[in-house]
Amino acid sequence: MLTFGPIVDEALCVAYVAQTHARWHDGVARPEWADYWEAAHGGLTAGERRAAEILRDRMRGLGDGCRIISHAAWRPHELAHECREAFAVLKPRAEATVDSAREGLNAWRHALGANRPPWFAAMCERLDAFFGIDEDVSVRVYLLPGPPRSNCGNGDMFVERGATTLSCSGMPLDDEGLFLILLHETAHSVHQPRVLSPLVAQRLRAVARAGLDAAFDECPISAMGGDLSSVIGEYVNHSLIPFGGLRAACGLESRDEHWRLLSEAAARALHDPDADHDAQYTAWVMQGAARLLPLATEYVRDERPMDADFVDAALDAFADIHRDWRSSRR
Ligand SMILES: [Zn+2]
Repeated sequence: MLTFGPIVDEALCVAYVAQTHARWHDGVARPEWADYWEAAHGGLTAGERRAAEILRDRMRGLGDGCRIISHAAWRPHELAHECREAFAVLKPRAEATVDSAREGLNAWRHALGANRPPWFAAMCERLDAFFGIDEDVSVRVYLLPGPPRSNCGNGDMFVERGATTLSCSGMPLDDEGLFLILLHETAHSVHQPRVLSPLVAQRLRAVARAGLDAAFDECPISAMGGDLSSVIGEYVNHSLIPFGGLRAACGLESRDEHWRLLSEAAARALHDPDADHDAQYTAWVMQGAARLLPLATEYVRDERPMDADFVDAALDAFADIHRDWRSSRR
């Protein structure tokens, strides 16, 4: 059974807000969130702008941006001198943002235990069953600030393995969607490394799939970081939650129209050389989940745990998208 331990860690909250102003990664340091916080607390001073630029260069340049966040929070002495200085410059601003988010953070810390929607327990069980996990797992959930009506989860990208982050302070307390996001992130932190990733590695060693890593390396999403296994993780997890096959099994309405529109947008973006980050994400990542959705729905309905056939279907989805993309580039 899954249990959740929500935590408000002041140092992590401050480091998270500070790195957002560096705008070094669209999914971790969200530019629209930086815009919001800069509008709310005043634009960056010249010194803060310089600090943000230094962080952006460092966090992008070494490929260890996420590690810099956890070091800034918990082990600042391990940071390079210029990073430590840059975080110090941005710290008072970040602390002010965290202060104004504190009420929301504390309210959600309580709500995650007390305000659970009626379907939540069943969905936790179904998620475990899909991945064939039957032992008790407790998940530390680091709650982080976010602008009004915005949320984001980053799995364990910058916290310890098996834990997850959840930016939620601006979400209304009756928002059931946040519980779905929490489960999606939990799948990344708990179920993916234990069950899915080893199976993906095993299936990738099969002779028939020898070219897939090379295919991944040449496609535009490889530049966003991660590897083929992490993209397959998104296919699988999104095919389940928040909008996937676990919904119907737990009494929530299906999101057919969402997936139909998404598939249309993905087909357009795949062949558009000027597609921005979000459009490329839709084309390469969400489209894979859309292709896997019917099979995921079937597995969940039949209470069949994920197996090699399912992973093969996910890898085939990537291969099909890659083939489709190549065909328009000739
Ligand atoms: Zn995800």
